[in-house]
Amino acid sequence: MKTERLIRLSKSCIGEAEKQAVMGVLDREYLGMGAEVHKFEEALKTFFGRPAVCVVNGTAALQLAIQAYGIGQNDEVLVQSLTYVASFQAISATGATPVACDIDPVTLTLDWRDAEKRITPRSKAVMPVHYSGGVGGLDEIYAFARKHGLRVIEDAAHAFGSIYHGKCIGSFGDIACFSFDGIKNITSGEGGCIVTEDSEVLRRVQDARLLGVEKDTEKRYTGQRSWEFDVSTQGWRYHMSNIMAAIGLVQLRRFPEMALKRQRLAQCYDHLLIAHPRIEIFKKNYDDVVPHIYMVRIRGIVNRAILQDQLLESGIQTGIHYQPNHKLRLYSEMGALPLPVTDLVFSELLSLPLHPDLNEQDIEYICKELTRILL
Ligand SMILES: *Cc1c(COP(=O)(O)O)cnc(C)c1O
Repeated sequence: MKTERLIRLSKSCIGEAEKQAVMGVLDREYLGMGAEVHKFEEALKTFFGRPAVCVVNGTAALQLAIQAYGIGQNDEVLVQSLTYVASFQAISATGATPVACDIDPVTLTLDWRDAEKRITPRSKAVMPVHYSGGVGGLDEIYAFARKHGLRVIEDAAHAFGSIYHGKCIGSFGDIACFSFDGIKNITSGEGGCIVTEDSEVLRRVQDARLLGVEKDTEKRYTGQRSWEFDVSTQGWRYHMSNIMAAIGLVQLRRFPEMALKRQRLAQCYDHLLIAHPRIEIFKKNYDDVVPHIYMVRIRGIVNRAILQDQLLESGIQTGIHYQPNHKLRLYSEMGALPLPVTDLVFSELLSLPLHPDLNEQDIEYICKELTRILL
């Protein structure tokens, strides 16, 4: 059975308002970092209750956050292996070594007990990844970090808008990094931000995103730039453009409606799949969690690729989040201890379509097809 329509795994959800906002920037012919970026940062500050610095993507946000803490060459950062390669690349980009850790099989977030076994005198920070929008036992990770004098750099790329103990992710803790890439909970085309209360870290990140040019941020927000300046640290061209910020501002306004959609769709999946004998769902409180992806675990699956092909025949695109990083050639030498939970869980993971342009009938169809094929 070949279906015409393809239900995409994920997609950007863009309306007229985003298009008009971009046209506005194009009409004003100031495309770089200026008034829109400033406005977007102000809106994010209101959202988080803490200052935000916008950058070109989430990976850059993580890299600059690590660097702003003075972490680099000869340092180690503890991070779960089950994450997008961006987390690992951001760490190694600073010269530091990502140390692959195992996960909790229920939340798929960092298992701090496993991380504790991997601590060395070089360990400087821990990077919990808020996998699929859930944060697991984040309190315990902070307690673990405090006990060992580690910084916590939250990879919150999946968790924009998620709430933990009544507080928004990013509104507490050391530092949180978000991604606004095309398919995340909100998008600015590409983009990302760093959220922290630490004013010294904020200043460092602001300079580092503009090639290390000191205090250039304020100038750009008034349509000027620094002609005479000093540079004392390595920087990158990682700032956000007005085009991106214009999209982000509209998406932030639309966020409550899009978040509710994601939450309802995930609840719908849970409801339809919970009784299945071979499918394990990852139960979350969707009053608090805004899910970026929806994955299930299929117990005893031998050939996941065939299942994916069959679903695609039915017009359903699926994904795998993610290939564990300790399996990648660049990072394969870095994990001395085995990662049994990651290896087992990964082999049975499957991500099903989730984005705000789906409806409950789509979810019913996906679950019906998945159940039929698994029989
Ligand atoms: C998307 C993502 C990032 C990086 O964000 P980009 O904007 O794509 O650079 C980092 N970590 C995780 C877990 C992600 O999913």
